[in-house]
Amino acid sequence: MSFLFNNYSRRQIHIVSGKGTIVQDDKGKEYLDFISGIAVNSLGHAHPAIVETIKYQSEKLWHVSNLFESPEQEKLAEKLAKDTQFAHAFFCNSGAEANEAAIKLARKHTGKHVIITFEQSFHGRTFGAMSATGQEKIKQGFGPMLESFRTVPFNNPAALEAAISDDVAAIMLEVIQGEGGVHEVTAEFADAITNICKSKGILCIVDEVQTGIGRTGTRYAYEQTSLMPDIMTLAKGLGGGFPIGAMLGTSDLFEAFGPGSHGTTFGGNPLAVSVAQTVVNHIFDNSFLEEVQHKSDYLKGKLLEILPTTYEVRGKGLLIGIDCKEDVTLFIRQAEAAGLLVVQAGPSVIRLLPPLTVTEDEINHAIGLLASVLHIPSTL
Ligand SMILES: *Cc1c(COP(=O)(O)O)cnc(C)c1O
Repeated sequence: MSFLFNNYSRRQIHIVSGKGTIVQDDKGKEYLDFISGIAVNSLGHAHPAIVETIKYQSEKLWHVSNLFESPEQEKLAEKLAKDTQFAHAFFCNSGAEANEAAIKLARKHTGKHVIITFEQSFHGRTFGAMSATGQEKIKQGFGPMLESFRTVPFNNPAALEAAISDDVAAIMLEVIQGEGGVHEVTAEFADAITNICKSKGILCIVDEVQTGIGRTGTRYAYEQTSLMPDIMTLAKGLGGGFPIGAMLGTSDLFEAFGPGSHGTTFGGNPLAVSVAQTVVNHIFDNSFLEEVQHKSDYLKGKLLEILPTTYEVRGKGLLIGIDCKEDVTLFIRQAEAAGLLVVQAGPSVIRLLPPLTVTEDEINHAIGLLASVLHIPSTL
């Protein structure tokens, strides 16, 4: 019997400490962490700059209500929006909360209620975010869902076109579907979304909870596409392990979120915001982002070198999926036993999400372990 609800299928490891890409369990066994809290520990474990920020800010001020001014939030919002079409931010505590804010803002601004989302998408576990999610298994037993979400096949312009009607407020998508199997939006589909949004006055919402803050080698993944989002949501990597979420929007949307329209007690407290600033200061640096792209090319290149052609490698930056075309549950357990932590994305995909600070040596080590688990000869 456990004192916890059984809502997670937990692995039988108790991780007690971490430094960079390496974590250690209570028996002293070390693992290469290619999950990093599911794209959360973007600067690795116990990054000295984050430790320093938490020490400093925890002695100054942790929490102050949003009843008061927040120059700290202003500063973070400005950094996130710099050189983008976004003008304003709202801070919260998680990805699902950021998506709730996006859904509410889109409805309020347009006065319309339908939001188009996509098959295999994942937007979170709260009612709005769950209703937006295009996976039946996430919704099972919790019905009825919130009305007015229309789920359409991903990367299918004709199906999207057919789903458009006068009551559509927004189209909401992940630039790369993370949980759903590492599926990237195609250039053709991004063009179709952008054209439809422009010609019909429909808002585009990108859920960058997993892909944002440097994960794909640019600040935001949409920057590598023709998408021109009106709203963007962030969370996972933004706090480097400290819980924080954000929703950004264009200046057109400013009026819809007037005083009293939306809020949260904890959202954007000084401790969370100071950590996020440190994370963003490190990652929003051209040479850091170039490094991420370089490591991505290296990792993908090595994978393509060793993997049989029956496997497919997808994803951008350090959000990489290896589609093994068969159930990968056993591989993931074997990798863990060998000292490599990876996570599944859909039944047949091994997802690699190392910290953005991962080294080439660590990538080589991980490739060697993967090769041994998949029974592929590796020269590394
Ligand atoms: C993880 C995730 C969410 C949910 O974030 P939580 O912080 O768990 O609420 C939403 N959207 C995407 C794309 C995600 O990967």
